[in-house]
Amino acid sequence: MGLLVVGSIAFDSVKTPFGEAEEVLGGSATYFSVSASYFTDVSLVAVVGEDFPEKHINFLKMRNIDTKGLERKKGRTFRWKGQYGYDLNEAHTLNTELNVFEHFKPQLPEEYKEAEVVFLANIDPDLQRDVLEQVKNPKIVAADTMNFWIEGKKDSLLKTLKMVDILIINDGEARQLAGEPNLIKAARQILSYGPKTLIIKRGEYGVLMFNGRSIFSAPAYPLENVFDPTGAGDTFAGGFMGYLANTMDFSEPAMRRATVMGSVMASFNVEDFSLNKIRHLEYHEIESRYREFKRLSHFEDI
Ligand code: AMP
Repeated sequence: MGLLVVGSIAFDSVKTPFGEAEEVLGGSATYFSVSASYFTDVSLVAVVGEDFPEKHINFLKMRNIDTKGLERKKGRTFRWKGQYGYDLNEAHTLNTELNVFEHFKPQLPEEYKEAEVVFLANIDPDLQRDVLEQVKNPKIVAADTMNFWIEGKKDSLLKTLKMVDILIINDGEARQLAGEPNLIKAARQILSYGPKTLIIKRGEYGVLMFNGRSIFSAPAYPLENVFDPTGAGDTFAGGFMGYLANTMDFSEPAMRRATVMGSVMASFNVEDFSLNKIRHLEYHEIESRYREFKRLSHFEDI
């Protein structure tokens, strides 16, 4: 059994200084599953409304993503509207319409309950726990969240964090969650909430991984053309967790490699709107960018 993910499937409307996209395929679970599907089998738990086109579901199936846990409910699909200024590191949410998520009660298909690797993508922390409680014996559980839930459902989120091994969030969220502007102090505070590993995504400044006392820093790929950062975080998490599920090695060195694999996938995603770039990657493109990452921060000692 590969990797189980619960999260949002959305229609996103996004504006960046370089263009805009209306009601395109998005959502935390969508970016995550497509990215992870390059490394492992993915089982998806999510909900869409009656307005969700079959072609998007067929695309997920074409990537070998198991959609038995994808429910279609009466009503409209989740919608998110966001905008970025020239600082592409920060998304400004203009509107969030929960729609079918509002009354979603995830029911895992029997075989999903055997999942060993679980990712709770950005979604209501109550739903994250609903799913996790149905998984019999997970070996590793990771989660994401965002300001919307830190502001609106902090107590529930803290309950979820007690059940999580790895938390993957961005720097703004880490500062907000800990109530601490210094990232190193914020990381220490967040590790006291439950997770053993904390990954802080810093957009164009790369990623920091905190594992007990050790800190690992991975750069972001120096891209000349960044069009749309939407989904970069979920695509990172998909590459990271997909790599771990593929190797089933959860040691510190393996997590360092997974961090770089996540950064590779995220670097592809920001090169185009929606999932346009990560829809059809060739595995050799992924490998070659992974090698470039290695060269990027390698230096010879004297
Ligand atoms: P990221 O840029 O990786 O942080 O994630 C962007 C994705 O998160 C978008 O495709 C949105 O549809 C989705 N999203 C935005 N707000 C929420 C929310 N409150 N709950 C779940 N998913 C969301």
